[in-house]
Amino acid sequence: MTAKICLITGASSGIGHATALELVRAGHTVYGAARRVRQVPGGHALAMDVTNPADVEHAVRTVLDEQGRIDVLVNNAGIGLYGAVEDVPLDQARHLFEVNLFGVAHLTRLVLPHMRERGSGSIVNVSSIAGEIALPLGGWYHASKHALEALTDSLRQEVKAFGVNVVLIQPGLIKTEFEQDIREISGRGAYRDLAQAMAERAESSTGGSDPAVVATAIRKVVESAHPRPRHPVGHLARTVL
Ligand code: NDP
Repeated sequence: MTAKICLITGASSGIGHATALELVRAGHTVYGAARRVRQVPGGHALAMDVTNPADVEHAVRTVLDEQGRIDVLVNNAGIGLYGAVEDVPLDQARHLFEVNLFGVAHLTRLVLPHMRERGSGSIVNVSSIAGEIALPLGGWYHASKHALEALTDSLRQEVKAFGVNVVLIQPGLIKTEFEQDIREISGRGAYRDLAQAMAERAESSTGGSDPAVVATAIRKVVESAHPRPRHPVGHLARTVL
């Protein structure tokens, strides 16, 4: 197996943290990016808010200057946002799209020309089962992941001829800080009963999978010459998709 130069966002916790560790242990060179840079494992931590163009440009330039190439980009950083469509402030919804969609797009646009010129590379986008279904009180999150999946599917077809793989990871429920937020979905006013019913449903579910299962799936994608385009992984993923 050839060691790869990897750049992964959201490496400070949850799925990204587990994936960075898994890739380092497998012998790859891993640049992990996040705002909480002290929590990024491995020797190459990059401070990055994916909504800040200067951070994103600096991170990509750093990896290229130090390694001469980026073989793998894992777009993992993401946030949730829950509440009724009627209630969620639009500025929060826009911010969600800045992180979950435009952050991915900006990194991809900076890394892609280098992969295209070299005729190889992998772009791995962490979506969700939420990218294929839609539930009440999660409208904006679902919308952001549906948009991410469409962008990813289009991109895959655009760059296939250049030797660049574009892959979607679709985790189910995974035990991370993020999963805690899902369990605490709240609703106001007219939506209180619905939120209560959703909370009870979440409470009775058996709990999420360990982030390591997603990390292993991503490592296998990174190490495969011809990965499958979509990877449902973890609790609920196979039953829902
Ligand atoms: P965590 O909350 O544990 O991790 C989220 C990561 O994203 C953190 O490392 C955080 O780093 C980073 N991040 C958030 N906002 C920004 C930002 N503006 N700029 C840079 N980094 C940012 O959650 P998960 O590990 O669960 O989530 C990872 C991905 O998996 C997300 O895309 C999520 O949608 C997806 N997912 C999660 C599921 C689950 O059940 N947990 C299910 C399906 C999909 P920092 O705060 O340090 O910047």
